[in-house]
Amino acid sequence: MRTVDEHLAEILGSVAVLPPLDLALLEAQGTVLAEPVSAPVPLPPFDNSAMDGYAVVAADVAAATEADPAVLPVVGDIVAGDTGVSALRPGLTARIMTGAPLPAGADAVIPVEWTDGGNATVRISRSAPSGHYIRRAGEDVPAGQVVVDAGTRLGAPQLGMIAAVGRSRVTVRPRPRVVVVSTGDELREPGEPLAPGQIWESNSYMLTAAVVEAGGVGYRQATVEDESAKVLEMFHDQLVRADAIVTTGGVSMGTRDVVKEVLAGTGTVGFHKVRMRPGKPQGFGLLEGVPVFTLPGNPVSAYVSFQVFVRPALRAMQGLAPDPLPTVSAVLTDAVKSPPGLRHYLRGLLSFSRGSYTVTAAHTQGSHQLGSLASANALIELGEDVESLPAGSHVEVMRLP
Ligand code: AMP
Ligand code: MG
Repeated sequence: MRTVDEHLAEILGSVAVLPPLDLALLEAQGTVLAEPVSAPVPLPPFDNSAMDGYAVVAADVAAATEADPAVLPVVGDIVAGDTGVSALRPGLTARIMTGAPLPAGADAVIPVEWTDGGNATVRISRSAPSGHYIRRAGEDVPAGQVVVDAGTRLGAPQLGMIAAVGRSRVTVRPRPRVVVVSTGDELREPGEPLAPGQIWESNSYMLTAAVVEAGGVGYRQATVEDESAKVLEMFHDQLVRADAIVTTGGVSMGTRDVVKEVLAGTGTVGFHKVRMRPGKPQGFGLLEGVPVFTLPGNPVSAYVSFQVFVRPALRAMQGLAPDPLPTVSAVLTDAVKSPPGLRHYLRGLLSFSRGSYTVTAAHTQGSHQLGSLASANALIELGEDVESLPAGSHVEVMRLP
C-alpha cells in the first residue's frame, strides 16, 4: 500500500515537459506559452485620437461656450490609417477620426458631439484641457514590456494581445496527445443493443473529455477485450503516437485482470494499492518512455484517479504547475464518515450563499454509481486521518471542471 501523495510523487517524477513547438496564432489556442512575448514597439505606436471629432490646440478653444462658441477653419480630414499627416498650426483645426494619428501641434481632440460638425469651419461650444481624448503612444504597453509570460495558457485575450504586438507565430508547449482505452469483455458501444450481462462503455468517453478539459488532445480508442494478446497489441499500436496512454479496467484482483497481467514488469510499470477511495488499484509507469496510466474500471474510480493523478501529470507535460483541481474551503451541511487510513473523495454539491461555501455529500458514493458523479459539482477531500466529521466542519473541496 502507498499513499496518494507517494503515488503522485512517482508520477510527477517520471513525466517530462513536452518539447516546444512553433505554431501559428490560432493553432496555439489553449496551449501554454513557452517563451515570454514582449512588445517590440510601444502600444499604441503613435499618439492618436480617442474620438471622432476635431484636433485642436486646446488654448484656441479655452473660452468656448454654448453661447459664445469658438469658430475655427477646418484644414483637412485625418482618418485612421493616414500616414503623412501634416502639423496643425494654432487657430486651425482638422477633422479627425478615432484611431487616426494626432497631427503635430494639436494637443486635444474635441468630440464631434460638442460641435456643429462643420466642414469648412466648425463651431465648438465647449472647452477641453490639453491632452483631452488623446491616446498617448505607449499608454497601453511600453516598448519592451512582456505582454504574456511564459507558462500562460493562451485564451482569447492573450491571443489578441500577441497579435497586437505583431507576432503571427508563437513557441508553445503542445497539447499532450493522450490515447484513452477501455478494457472489458462486458462493454458495448453506446448505440448498440445490450445482451444480458453487458453494459454500455462510458469510461473512455468521460476520460477523453477530461483530457480535453486538462488541456490535452484526447484520442478515444475502441474498447479492448480482456485478452492478453489484444491488450499487448493495443499498447504496441498506440505507443508510437501517444504522449500518454490512459487505460481503464483490468487492474484489480480478478481472474480477467489482463492489463495488470500483461504490463506487470514491463518498462517501469508498477501496480499498487493506493490508500484512497475510490480508486485503490492503480498502475503507472513508462513504456518506451511514454507515461501509461492504468486506472481502475469502476467509472467513479476512473474519474477520481484521472483528476488526482493524470491531470497533474498532463499539466506538468504542458509546463504548468502540477496543481490539483482548484479547491475551496466549505462547510459541511451534514455529518460524514470516512474509512480510516484512506484519502476519501466524496461526490458533493457545492454552493455559495451569504458569503461562504457549503457542501453536501451525495447520498450514493459507490464507485460504480456514476449517477451521483454526474449530478455533483465537487469532490470533498477527506484526509487519511479523518474518520468522521460533524455537520458544520470545514473541509477542502475540489471543484469539478
Ligand atoms: P474492472 O476494473 O475491469 O474489474 O472493472 C470494474 C467495474 O467497472 C466492473 O463492474 C466493470 O464492468 C466496470 N467497468 C469497467 N470498465 C468500464 C467502462 N469502460 N465503462 C463502464 N464501466 C466499466
Ligand atoms: Mg474488467
